[in-house]
Amino acid sequence: MTTRGKNRGVPSLCLDCACVGDGASRCAHCGSRHLALHPELLDLHMLHVDCDAFYAAVEKRDNPDLVAKPVIIGGGQRGVVATCCYQARIFGVHSAMPMYKALKKCPQAVIIKPNMAKYRAVSREIRDEMKMLSPLIEPISIDEAFIDMSGTGRLHRRSPAAMAAGLANVIRDKIGISVSIGLSYNNFLAKIASDINKPRGFTLIGKAEAMDFLAHQPVSIIWGVGEKFNHKLRRDGIHKITDLRKLDETILTTRYGAIGSRLWRLAHGLDVRRVIPDNATKSISSETTFDFDISDPETLEDHLWRQCEIVSYQLKHKNLVGRTVTLKLKPSIHKTLTRSSQLTDSTQLAHRIFDCAKVLLERVASGTRFRLLGVGVSGISDFAPESAVDLGDPTRQQKNQAERAVDSLNRRFGKSSVQKGRGL
Ligand SMILES: [Mg+2]
Repeated sequence: MTTRGKNRGVPSLCLDCACVGDGASRCAHCGSRHLALHPELLDLHMLHVDCDAFYAAVEKRDNPDLVAKPVIIGGGQRGVVATCCYQARIFGVHSAMPMYKALKKCPQAVIIKPNMAKYRAVSREIRDEMKMLSPLIEPISIDEAFIDMSGTGRLHRRSPAAMAAGLANVIRDKIGISVSIGLSYNNFLAKIASDINKPRGFTLIGKAEAMDFLAHQPVSIIWGVGEKFNHKLRRDGIHKITDLRKLDETILTTRYGAIGSRLWRLAHGLDVRRVIPDNATKSISSETTFDFDISDPETLEDHLWRQCEIVSYQLKHKNLVGRTVTLKLKPSIHKTLTRSSQLTDSTQLAHRIFDCAKVLLERVASGTRFRLLGVGVSGISDFAPESAVDLGDPTRQQKNQAERAVDSLNRRFGKSSVQKGRGL
């Protein structure tokens, strides 16, 4: 945004040096014309930070030959696009698109298999930079997070907007990744704002404009309004947020249940959810997409065992145990089946997670073909040695000891030097 004379007096922020000015057309400090200006610039406190084409950006950072090329991160013959860079998007490629379709649209694309360990490490570096701004950070995925900056003005002696611009520059210069930032007075609008001028966006939505801005947006912009629900709303004549506002809250709740009142509130720009800092792990999961659909129960069980081993490995590595086991299956691209079950006591052992998930699998896998299988453990707590002892069941105790013996051999001689029965 460039400012003109008429903007004198409206607070402006230089996106290059993060200095606040008074609406002059250039930054008084560094002379840059790269400014954001907004009447509520100094009042907005809720930040949504979203990395631009994250996985692709990391790969381009690490291999300069890729910079000008269309890059797709995804894998396997049957996989889908996990992320693609902006050059690939020009050809119509987008995330979640099946790989074969993406390659038809952009045959010259460079395909890279996702390297999650690397992306997680970069994500942690970015999070460390965010922690300098506020303790109230809520990551919502590997590449995006909310930061509640309310009350931090006294600590930093700078406005949240200035801190946000500084954060984007630090992430770019130190880590080599670009982000888009949304700044508003609640989560809902901050997240919408970060999506508006991607990549390298810096967008503000103030209280004064929120209602007008929202009115013309499609209802699908609201969290929780997925494809199916959107379809239902359209059938009921609700296309845009302004259509929602014509109905009162009671009608919406009677029609759509609990989400009705959420629709009503968000349609009016009201979102009272607070940022929940994510200090603890809530769940650990692993999944695999098959190259070909699988219906054979034994083959599915083999895959299940492998996923249970991965989850168990992570739990052990982090010294955690979990109580709820969730099985995830995908019979088709758009359909996901999940089934959960509680264990009598928390565990980190692969064979116990497997025994529980296997029962769930037997209930649903009766000849159905699946394209994805995953397993997760939630209800996480810290591992205490006594929880490993199960005095009530001597067979289980034997199995526990066997698994721990294999683990300690693997620790000494390298991961996977000894495999437990099913993984062979
Ligand atoms: Mg992103």
